[in-house]
Amino acid sequence: MECKRCVLDESAKDIRFDENGVCNYCTDYLDKRDSILQNFEALFSLVSRIRTPNASYDCIVGVSGGLDSSFLLYKAKELGLRPLAVHIDTGWNSAISVSNIETITAKLQVDLHTFVLDWPQFRKMQVAYLRAGVLDLEFPTDHYYLSALYKVAADKGIRFILTGNNYTSEGIMPDCWIHNKGDTRNMLDIYRKYGNTSPPDKLPTLTLFKRFYYYNIRKTENIFLLNYLPYNREDAKQTLINTFGWKEYPVKHGESVFTRFYHRYILPKRFGVDIRRAHLSSLICNAQLSRNEALELLKTESIDAELLQSDKEYVLKKLGLTLTEFEELMAAPVRSHFDFRSEIPIKRAYNTFIKKLRLQSFLKISNRH
Ligand SMILES: [Zn+2]
Repeated sequence: MECKRCVLDESAKDIRFDENGVCNYCTDYLDKRDSILQNFEALFSLVSRIRTPNASYDCIVGVSGGLDSSFLLYKAKELGLRPLAVHIDTGWNSAISVSNIETITAKLQVDLHTFVLDWPQFRKMQVAYLRAGVLDLEFPTDHYYLSALYKVAADKGIRFILTGNNYTSEGIMPDCWIHNKGDTRNMLDIYRKYGNTSPPDKLPTLTLFKRFYYYNIRKTENIFLLNYLPYNREDAKQTLINTFGWKEYPVKHGESVFTRFYHRYILPKRFGVDIRRAHLSSLICNAQLSRNEALELLKTESIDAELLQSDKEYVLKKLGLTLTEFEELMAAPVRSHFDFRSEIPIKRAYNTFIKKLRLQSFLKISNRH
């Protein structure tokens, strides 16, 4: 069964449908939209809060070379902010992403700082996730992307971090298709069991202690600026192409070869998940695409077989896996993230506790808006 409004279907195992055949995910998305997407008034008060006179930079903008973060950098500059563009190099940049980052920062005259993750440990982390048999293989990338931004912000004395996350094109995501991104304990347990017994000490892991420090002592804020702006992906793409010579990717999140391979090969083949269903559903709910157009897109292969094959060879070689090893891992039993240690129950208890004491504004351990 497929939702009558969006294009999610029963491949999202926890999906529920109402009497009109509409799913819980798009209903929930639309219910929350007005409280998440902000108006101009909120934007201007946010921008005036971020502006820091006399500082070299007033914010960090995380850039991947992808559409969302490139447009974010352009908008930040247009709003009169003085951003430092920070790129986290996980080792998986596609050639287009490098060229996009260089082009846009040069044309906007924004300084670029690149933070390179320790490849041997990050590789072990990614292989550990593959071996563990869990679904969210992008967890380490998302985790270290954010944690490195926090680290650079602290090193440079900058309080505000702007990232390209946005409700418009990413707001719909079935719970069973990702794992809670704040669950550092889960990641470290997977690494300990399938990667290495010694901790990943060369990676800037966002431990509970560090989070407490960044959020409550440094008061660093991670802001999803695109939620404060009218954001139409197609218009944004045309603006970037026409103004900056930005180059388009063959698929969403094509800026990383690993992500591309994960979305187009591992997720569908191993977990029966076509992640495009979630991305397209968000756009349908915002009238940026019709449901019929989305269904047509789902029918077509959005990445050609040749590129997929070359991505596969590249990914296996870089991760140090043979084809046989990889095929065995793809066929091994799937495991839940909850088969490993998790800090979610600890966090829930902590949040309930500080809420009771009315201390949630001072003792935060999660920090997103
Ligand atoms: Zn739906």
